[in-house]
This record gives sequence, structure tokens and C-alpha cells, in this order.
Amino acid sequence: MAERITGHTELIGLIATPIRHSSSPAMHNEAFAKLGLDYAYLAFEVGNEELEDTIKGFRAMNVRGCNVSMPNKTVVHKYLDGLSPAAEMCGAVNTIVNENGVLTGHITDGIGYMAALKDAGIDVIGKKMTLVGAGGAATAIAIQAALDGVAEISIFNVKDKFFERAEQTVRDINEKTNCKAQLFDLADLDTLKAEIATSYLFTNGTGMGMKPFEGQTYIPDKSFLRPDLIVSDVVYSPRETALLKMAKEVGCKTINGLGMMLFQGAAAFKLWTGEEMPIEHMKKTLGIEY
Ligand code: NAD
Repeated sequence: MAERITGHTELIGLIATPIRHSSSPAMHNEAFAKLGLDYAYLAFEVGNEELEDTIKGFRAMNVRGCNVSMPNKTVVHKYLDGLSPAAEMCGAVNTIVNENGVLTGHITDGIGYMAALKDAGIDVIGKKMTLVGAGGAATAIAIQAALDGVAEISIFNVKDKFFERAEQTVRDINEKTNCKAQLFDLADLDTLKAEIATSYLFTNGTGMGMKPFEGQTYIPDKSFLRPDLIVSDVVYSPRETALLKMAKEVGCKTINGLGMMLFQGAAAFKLWTGEEMPIEHMKKTLGIEY
């Protein structure tokens, strides 16, 4: 790294809190080094209170861009000049690109999720998926899946503050894409079972299965699953959630959240540098298996 940094090196940031646990700095710096690109990626502990000043500072310093994570994803748009169509529909930004002082917000989580499926040989285009969740990750997945050509999406969520947001997401998908979207209460387990039974893919798009919900799943028992169902999870810590463990026992093909993490990073990397992230090299050096 010391040999790599020069007076010309451009900064790319990551702004979130807490953020010290993130694997994004290791991932992007490894990719810059591998391709000989003159950038450095650093994480900054920034919350909503410091957000406006941080973006002003990035503008003033002409920083190339940054990633944005919680709690800033749904707030940062206020300080930007424009949004990509997917970021506009999701109401969230995870990547900012600075083009000569014009700051545009993008969301690459959904792109990353769809790319990870493709990389794992899973083709959901023209088929039906059932998705649990209506937060940032799940909304990005639903919208990108609909934009990419998934035929039908059944979304389940508990009746919390995210449910209303899901109603808007379903309306947007039905109005703006060819995908048919429906929303159900996650408490309605009979309907969940019936929707999964007619789906090609079942996805957990919430933090269920990771701390403080480690060892838990929304699926009450194995009768909800079948061997030819594909089961995916946005969670990657632990690598195998209770849902994926149960799915493997039933004989389902499974995919954890590591692929989504890698490919959302790759999509941001492409936006900043114009280059493809060296995916196979990243998988090997970061020990990514999904
Ligand atoms: P969020 O806070 O925006 O959404 C939370 C979701 O969980 C909502 O749908 C909410 O209704 C649901 N939920 C919360 N508590 C619940 C409970 N007790 N019972 C039932 N449902 C409950 O969070 P997010 O940003 O969407 O993140 C969700 C998960 O996705 C996190 O685990 C995060 O680490 C993961 N994630 C992974 C990637 C990746 O690249 N793999 C990217 C983004 C997020």
C-alpha cells in the first residue's frame, strides 16, 4: 500500500456507522492493487448528523465517490444532484459518483443480488420469486428483479413501518415494469407456504438469521420447502443461516449473501473506475464461497 499511494491517488470513501467491521475496504483496495488503479478506499465513521458536512467536504476535495451504508442510505439523496432510476425507485443510495462536481446517487444492491444469482448459475428471469423483507436490501432486490424481467414477485413483511413502504414498492413495480408484484402479511403462514410452493426462488431479504436473530428463520418447518426450490439469503454472517441450513437438509440449491456483497461492490467499482472488478481473483483472495 505504501508504495501504491502517491500525490495523484484518488480517494473513494465509505460513510456509515458502525462501519469498522466492513469488508469493503479490503475488497476494493485489493481490486485496485490487482488492476494497478490509482485509488484508495477508506471507511469513515459518519452518521446522519455529520452527513451533510461530509458530502460538502467530498465535493470540496473533488473525491471520486463513495459507498453509503446505514444509517445514511435513505438520507443522503438530500445532498446529491441526481439519482439513478433504481435509486429513485428504491428511495436509497449505496454508491455516489462524482463527475466533475456533479454528484449522482446509485443503488447497486439489487444489481449485485441479480449478478450473484447469474454467477451461481441461477436463472430467475421469466419466473416467480417469493421474497421476505421490505427494508433497503429487499426493496433493492425486488425493484432490480422486476426491472431485469422476473415475471412475478410475492413480497412478505411483518406489519411494521416497512409494510407501507412495501405497498409503494409493489405499486411502482406493477405500474413501471412488466412484473406482477403482490404484498402479503408475513403472519399469514398458509399464504407464505402457498406462494413458496409456486415459486422457483425463495429469498430472505432481512437480517433474520444474523445477530440478534442468529439460529432463527421465518420458515416454521421443512414442509415449506422442496428439493427443486432455490433458497437465497442476503445475510453472509454467518455464512449459513438457519434458513440455508434447513434448505440444504431438504436438498435445495442455496446461495448466501456473500455473492450479493461481492457483486454490489463490483457494480460500484465499475461506476467509479470504468473497469470490471477481477471477480475470480477477489473470490480467491477474500475466501468467498456461496
Ligand atoms: P432494514 O432495516 O432496511 O430492513 C429491515 C427488514 O427486516 C424490514 O423488512 C423489517 O420489516 C424486517 N424486520 C426487522 N425486524 C424484524 C422482526 N423482528 N421480524 C420480522 N421482520 C423484521 O435493513 P436492510 O438494510 O434491508 O438489511 C437487511 C439485511 O440485509 C441485513 O442483515 C444486512 O446485513 C443485509 N444486507 C446484505 C447485503 C449484501 O450485500 N449481502 C446488502 C445490504 C444488506
